[in-house]
Amino acid sequence: MPSKTTDARPRQTGAGATPRPDSVPPLPVAEIGMGGVLSRMAREYLKPHWRTAVIALLASFVVAGATGAVPVLIKFALDNIVGTDAWMLLLVSAGAIAATSVQAIATYISRINMAKIGQHIVAAVQKRMFTQIMHADLAWVSNTHSGRFISGFLYDANRVRDTITTSVIDFGQNLLTVFALVGAMFWLNWKLALMGAAVIPVVGLVVRQLGRRTRKAAKLNMEGSGDLTAVISEALKGIRVVKAYDQETTESARASRTIDRVRYNAMKAIKARSMASPITGMLSGFGVAAVIYFGGRSVQTGFLSIGDLGGFLSAMLLAYEPLKKLANTQTLMHEGVAAAARIFPILDIEPSIKAPEDAKPLHVKDGAIRFENVHFHYGDGTPALNGVDIEVPKGHTVALVGPSGAGKSTILNLVPRFYDPTSGRVLIDGQDVRDVTLSSLRAASSLVTQDPFLFDDTIRANIAYGSPGATDAEIEEAARNAAAHEFIAALPKGYDTLVGEAGFKLSGGQRQRIAIARAMLKNAAILLLDEATSSLDTASEIQVQNALSRLMEGRTTLVIAHRLSTIKHANTICVIDEGRVVERGSHAELVAHGGLYAELSRSQFIEEPDAAPEGASQAAVAGE
Ligand code: ATP
Repeated sequence: MPSKTTDARPRQTGAGATPRPDSVPPLPVAEIGMGGVLSRMAREYLKPHWRTAVIALLASFVVAGATGAVPVLIKFALDNIVGTDAWMLLLVSAGAIAATSVQAIATYISRINMAKIGQHIVAAVQKRMFTQIMHADLAWVSNTHSGRFISGFLYDANRVRDTITTSVIDFGQNLLTVFALVGAMFWLNWKLALMGAAVIPVVGLVVRQLGRRTRKAAKLNMEGSGDLTAVISEALKGIRVVKAYDQETTESARASRTIDRVRYNAMKAIKARSMASPITGMLSGFGVAAVIYFGGRSVQTGFLSIGDLGGFLSAMLLAYEPLKKLANTQTLMHEGVAAAARIFPILDIEPSIKAPEDAKPLHVKDGAIRFENVHFHYGDGTPALNGVDIEVPKGHTVALVGPSGAGKSTILNLVPRFYDPTSGRVLIDGQDVRDVTLSSLRAASSLVTQDPFLFDDTIRANIAYGSPGATDAEIEEAARNAAAHEFIAALPKGYDTLVGEAGFKLSGGQRQRIAIARAMLKNAAILLLDEATSSLDTASEIQVQNALSRLMEGRTTLVIAHRLSTIKHANTICVIDEGRVVERGSHAELVAHGGLYAELSRSQFIEEPDAAPEGASQAAVAGE
C-alpha cells in the first residue's frame, strides 16, 4: 500500500527526541562549469586516447553528412517523379540505401569508440581517486564519512562516464547532424531555412534554463546518494548495536527518509530533463507549420518546386529528432558536470603530511624516541597536547597512563606521522620524523591497536600484510611467537582460512594475536602499542599478554597501558592529563607519590587483573 508520504516532499521526522541526522557532512564541491570540466577531462585524461577520439569524431562527421544527404536525395526523387526517368529514381533509391547504411555503420563506430574512451577515463579517474585517498592525510580521510567516498566512486564516477560516453557523443553527433541538415535547408531554399531555423535560438535559451535546474537537482541528488550510502554502511557495520538496542525500525525509518529524499531530488532532475525534449518538439512544430504554409504557398505560386519543398520538409523533420536529443543530452551533461565538481576536490587533495623533496631514509640505529615540547591540536581546534616531553631510550618501554581523552593515542599517532605536531619535535635516533622519507619512517615502527583490523583475506595474507616477501616458514614462526599458531593449525583450512569482513569469524583474542604476529613479522625496531582493555577472557588475556611481552622484547616500546602487569614491567610510566605529562616514574614511586597515578591505580583506569591473580599474570607475561 502506498504510504501517505510517498509523493510528498520528505520531511525530517525523527523517531526520538534527538534523532540522528539523516545526512553526513558533504565533501567540498569544486566551482566549475561545463567548459571547465570538459577541458580538464580532455587535458588530463583524453590525451592518451586521442587516436580513438579522432576516429569517433570522424565517424560522427560521416553520420551527420549521411543524414544531411537524405533530404537532398528526397528532393531529387520528388523532382523526378513527375518526369519519366526511372533510372534516376533507381539511382536515388540506391543513394538512400547507401546513406542510411553508411549512417548506421558510422553511428556504431563513433559510439563504440566514445564508449571505450569513457570507460578508460572513468577507470583512470577511479584509480586516481583511490590513490589520492590512500595518500591523503589521515585527518582528512577520517573527517569524511566513508559513504561519501563510496558514492563518489560509484555514483559520481558513473555519472561522469555517462556524460562522456553518451552525452558528449550524442551531443557532438546530434549537433553535427543539425548543422548538416540546416546546411541542406539553406542549400534548398535560404528564405525558408531562415524561417525554420528561427526556433533554434529559442530552443537554446529554454535548454540553458533547464540545464541549470537539472544541475541543481543533480547536486542534491548526489548528496542524497552519498547520505544513503553512509546510512546503509553505518547500519550494517553497527547491526549488532542496532539489534541489541531494538533500533531496527528507527534505522529503517532513517533509511526511508533518505531514500525518499533521493527519490524526490531524482524526480526533480528527471522533470527538468524530461521537459527539454517536448519543449523542443513543440517549438520545432511552429517551424514546421510556418514552412508548410509559406513553402506550400510558394509551390502554389510556382516559386518553389515540389521536390524543394519535400526535401526541405524532410530535412526539418529529420532535424527534429537530433534537436530534441540535443536538448536532452545538454541537461544530462549538467548532471555529469555536477558529478565532476564533486570528484575534482578528491583528485586535487594535496597531503600536508609529506616528506621534503630531498628527504633521506630514516637511519634506525637504536630506535630511541624523543618528544620535545610537543604541542598539538586537531583541525577543529581541539587542543590535545600542551608541551609533551618524553624520552624512550633504546629497548625501553614507556607506558602512557591517564584518564580518557588525556592525549595518549595522540602521542602514539605522532610517531609514524599520522599527524604532525603543531609545534615541537618528535625525533627517532636524533632525526626529526618530518625530515625523513615516509616509507622509511613507517617501516621503523609497528602499530598494534586495541581492536586490530584484519582484511577479508586468509590468515596467512593478514599476517604477511606489509611483508609481501615473507615465506611460509617465517609466517608460521611469527604466529608461533604470537601464540597464534596452535589455534590457526586447529582450523580446517589452517593458514588459508578466510577471516571474514574485518575478521568477524575470529574471536577478539585471536584477532589480536594475528595482529601481533603481523607486527612480529614486520620486525620493526619500535613498537607502538595500544593495549586492549579487558574484553578478553582470562585464558585469552594470558595468551595475548604472553605474545605481547615477546613482541616487546628488545624493542623500543611506547605503550598505552591499561594493565598493571604491563605497567609494572615498563621502565618508565608517564601519567598524561590534559595533554601534559603530569607525573613520571616507576609504579612504586608513583604510588608512593600519592598523585593522579595513585588515584588512577585505585580506580578502573588501570585494571588490576583480579580475574587472574597478579602472580599468575606475571608468570604468564614472563612466558613461563
Ligand atoms: P582514550 O584513553 O579514551 O583513548 P586518549 O588519552 O587516547 O583517550 P586522545 O584520543 O589522544 O585521548 O584524545 C585527546 C583529545 O583529542 C580528546 O579531547 C579528544 O576528544 C580529541 N580528539 C581525538 N581525536 C580527535 C580527532 N580526530 N578530531 C578532533 N579531536 C580529537
